[in-house]
Amino acid sequence: MTEFRRTKIVATLGPASESPEVLDKLIKAGVNVVRLNFSHGSAEDHRKRAESVRTAAKNNGVCVGILADMQGPKIRIGKYKNGKTLLKPGQKYIIDGALGLDDGDDERVGLTYKELVGDVVPGARLLLNDGLIVMDVDEIIGQEIHCTVIVGGVLSNNKGINRAGGGLSAAALTDKDKEDIKTACAIGVDYIAISFPRDGADMEYARSLVRAEGSNAGLVAKVERAEAVENLDSILEASDVVMVARGDLGVEIGDAAVPPVQKRILREAPKHNTPVIVATQMMESMCENPIPTRAEVNDVANAVLDGTDAIMLSGETAAGKYPIEAVQAMHRTCIETEKQKVLPSSSTRDPRFPPHSIDECMARQAMEASHMMPITAIASFTQSGNTVLYMSRHLTKVPIYALTPLGETAGRVTLFRNVIPKPVSLDYGEKDAPQATRDIVAMMLYDGLVENDDLVIFTLGTPMGKAGGTNTMKIVRAGEVFND
Ligand code: PGA
Ligand code: MN
Repeated sequence: MTEFRRTKIVATLGPASESPEVLDKLIKAGVNVVRLNFSHGSAEDHRKRAESVRTAAKNNGVCVGILADMQGPKIRIGKYKNGKTLLKPGQKYIIDGALGLDDGDDERVGLTYKELVGDVVPGARLLLNDGLIVMDVDEIIGQEIHCTVIVGGVLSNNKGINRAGGGLSAAALTDKDKEDIKTACAIGVDYIAISFPRDGADMEYARSLVRAEGSNAGLVAKVERAEAVENLDSILEASDVVMVARGDLGVEIGDAAVPPVQKRILREAPKHNTPVIVATQMMESMCENPIPTRAEVNDVANAVLDGTDAIMLSGETAAGKYPIEAVQAMHRTCIETEKQKVLPSSSTRDPRFPPHSIDECMARQAMEASHMMPITAIASFTQSGNTVLYMSRHLTKVPIYALTPLGETAGRVTLFRNVIPKPVSLDYGEKDAPQATRDIVAMMLYDGLVENDDLVIFTLGTPMGKAGGTNTMKIVRAGEVFND
């Protein structure tokens, strides 16, 4: 078993990581959530991958969450007859909405999203291939966007197009996404990530589609366009989790604007009790190298210090040469960073942010208590996962065990900082609280999580087994619970 790490690691699956052997090693290295990227692969591929993940997690006796990431309205150029073209600064180039998708050449290339033609005006700046190639729009003639190349390079099949500053009309959910949501719900994923949402309304709409499929999956908003930054409050309010999707975000708002936005999201999210994933290029150089750069290690450490719930690997584990080493590098960086002194978060008492419910109030009391006494573990009986969500918004070094009979709740809490899912098979609704406490302490002693003299905080709701019912906190000395 790897050492306990409070920050969660999300790893994207792909050709470099989908074999049972590599998956097993990724999970042993400490991956908490896997990401299925619906920009690539068929429904069948994703179904198989999810199956392999569940098998590998079961073999290792751990809960691993599954996040399905929708492609969204990513605008792409078509393909080239010769696979690519070389663009030189100053040259003219046409992005042609009327051209066949396979007919690109040195003069023009097709477009997957024809509406782009109506969305741009002369003077607009287009960024291709994650911003590596830059073109300015000179004029629009019919379906043709005539451009001048500003920064050249090789442009190859299906590369993405962003508009600097945002402002594209594309709705967040495409027809493909709506189909993919059905697939993801049928697979039974724990989270569904929506790409390029503009505001909370886009997230509400996505949620209605997911619920219509009978799924309780959490909704993740990828903050990756300028509008989402402007509407951050409504996005945070309408989403279960937000992702700082630095790849597309950096192209749209400029790379220099990303760090302050990341910090702002990490500062604002706790006010809405919304967990955060920091994503993209965290260990990018490890696609090619077995060790990260100092800058990458610093990037991960800073996200941890700013209180992120999770950090994500994309190409590093999907297609890189060193997927296992990338997870290990993240793991050791988190462990070292988490040794920093943790101060109690003032927000447990901040009058500006009073708790909204009894269970949130109880969760805060538990976190305060964990700073006042030498507590070894927090054990929380939870049906919905909300109590441990509220707890994990506040900093502490004490691990929070989410004791839940529901598989879907165990899957959900895999993303929460400092929370360890512990499925419990017993139906505590039938038992009284002292008996449930004894059973859990016995398990924790047996698993070596606590010793006889250790103090454990319990939270639970009476009567037990009801969602949103946490109304009790008690502090017990492990070895003494068997005396009553
Ligand atoms: P993507 O999203 O990897 O699906 O593009 C993340 C990002 O844009 O950073
Ligand atoms: Mn993106």
